[in-house]
Amino acid sequence: MAYYAGVDIGGTKIAVGLGNENGQVVLEQRFPTREAVQGSVGIQRIAQEIRHLCDRQQITVNDLAAIGVGSPGPLDHGTLLRTANLPEWEGINLVTGLESLLQKPCRVENDATAAGMGEWMFGAGKGTRNMVYITVSTGIGSGIVANGQLYGGAQGNAGELGHVVIEPDGPLCHCGNHGCLETLASGTAIARIGQERKNQSDYLRNVDLINAPAIFAGVRAGDAVCGKIIEAAARNLGRGLSIMVNTQNPERIVLGGGVMENGDMWLPLIKQYTSQFSLQALYQAVDIVLAGLGQDSGLVGALAVAVVART
Ligand SMILES: [Zn+2]
Repeated sequence: MAYYAGVDIGGTKIAVGLGNENGQVVLEQRFPTREAVQGSVGIQRIAQEIRHLCDRQQITVNDLAAIGVGSPGPLDHGTLLRTANLPEWEGINLVTGLESLLQKPCRVENDATAAGMGEWMFGAGKGTRNMVYITVSTGIGSGIVANGQLYGGAQGNAGELGHVVIEPDGPLCHCGNHGCLETLASGTAIARIGQERKNQSDYLRNVDLINAPAIFAGVRAGDAVCGKIIEAAARNLGRGLSIMVNTQNPERIVLGGGVMENGDMWLPLIKQYTSQFSLQALYQAVDIVLAGLGQDSGLVGALAVAVVART
C-alpha cells in the first residue's frame, strides 16, 4: 500500500496527515497556524510534522508516493497570492518549498478545490464525471470537475463562486467588490445579518453569541426573523448554484462546509431557489446533495490532491 501525505492549511490550524489512496487518514497531527506566522517557517514546520508522522508509522519520507496540500487561495501555480488569513505567506511557493525539503512530488490546490477533489474521489461526488463542489463556511468557494477531470482554469483558480457579484449594491466584500455571494450567504454573512436584526427578534435578543448555528437554532425554535434570514441566504445561494447549473451543466452539486452541517434544514429551500433561477432542462439533470466526508474533508481533500499529484 502506498502512503500519501496531506496538508490542510487553515486560518486557525494546520492539519498534517498520512493516508492511503482510498482517502483513509491513518495518522494526523494539528498545530495552530499562529505558530507558523511566516510562510517560510510554516513550510519547515509542515515538513517536520510529515517526518514525525512517518517516524510514528515506521516508514520514511522516501516511502511517500506524493504530498497534497489544500491552502487558502487564490494561488498562482503553487504560490500564495494575497489572502486575508495568511498575509505573511504571500509570495511563498508551497510546491517548490515542500519538494525541496522532502524530495517528493507535491501538488497544491486552494482549500475549496481540495475538499471538492476529496468529495469527488472518496465522498458524495464519487462516480460522477461532471460535478461541482460548493463549500459554505466562513467564506464560500467551489471546485469544478468537468469531463472527468479537475477544472482549474488559467491559474488553477476556477470556481471562485464566493466572489461572484449577486447584489451590486450589497455589502462591501473583503475583495473590494460589493454584494459578492460570500457577503450574502456565508456563515459570516448569516451571523452579520443576525446581529443587524437582533432587535427585531425575541429569540436573538436573548442570545449572547449570534453566529450561524444560533440562527439555525432560532429557526428550529420557530423564530420568524431567523427563518427569514435563512430563507434569504437560501435564495442567494440558489442564485449562485444556478450560475453553476447553467454554465457547467453538472450531474451533481455537492454542498459542504460548516454551515451545511445544518443542511437538512435548508437544502429543500436551496433546491427550490436553484430550480427557480436555472434553465429547467439543465436543472432536471442535476442532483443537489450534502457532502459525505464531514469534519475530515480538509485532510481527505489534501490526500486526494496527493493521489492526483502522483499520476
Ligand atoms: Zn468578494
